[in-house]
Amino acid sequence: MNRASTTTAIPGAVLLDRDGTVIEDRHYLSDPSGVTLLPGAARGLAALTAAGARLFLVTNQSGIGRGYFTEADLHACNARLGELLGEHGVALADTAFCPHGPDDGCSCRKPAPGMWLALRDRHGLCAAATAMVGDKPEDVSFGRNAGLGRVVLVLTGKGQAAARTLGVPVPEGDAAVREPAPAELATRPDWPHAVARDLAAAAEWLLGAAAVGQGGNAAVAPDATGVSSSASFSPDITRSELS
Ligand SMILES: [Mg+2]
Repeated sequence: MNRASTTTAIPGAVLLDRDGTVIEDRHYLSDPSGVTLLPGAARGLAALTAAGARLFLVTNQSGIGRGYFTEADLHACNARLGELLGEHGVALADTAFCPHGPDDGCSCRKPAPGMWLALRDRHGLCAAATAMVGDKPEDVSFGRNAGLGRVVLVLTGKGQAAARTLGVPVPEGDAAVREPAPAELATRPDWPHAVARDLAAAAEWLLGAAAVGQGGNAAVAPDATGVSSSASFSPDITRSELS
């Protein structure tokens, strides 16, 4: 079987939730001194960068709409994040944020697709060649609703609670990543394509290099091809899909 022709080539771009995925989730963070990279975040993003992926933040920041902090505070925190990532040779291509509260009826608060549509149009992104990584059910639904090629739930931040809420199987033993069985995934549009222990594991999976457990809550054999359903990153294929 030609793997390249049967799997979606990703990720030319990776959309990243911020709080609980890249940095520690501090409730309504507004002080740049509180920006702390999560373990594995810099390593994972450096690996994706080395593979040629463009990185984007997509972050709900309702603290602005609620009046808890200002847009300037948000930009200061994001600038601090940029400094910390820069120390690891990582740069974000762009940042999208939603300043609204959950009752504002906006089209940009995840899981609504506004931030995806804005970044797609601004940067010419292709959904099939884009991945989403986040720690909440809203992040997963955002990515699945947008039809992104790969959606990963990380178990940092609120991820453990999210996995329980969704009822999705998590990595066990030595596995850093767990893929739901394809048959289960097909019936669960609210599930991620994979659950990863942290951002480093998510990056390894997106790059086709993670130790992967597969199956549902009961053990399920890998498919008959013996090919993992995790797609390896292929910049060449990404380019051809975009052309
Ligand atoms: Mg989060």
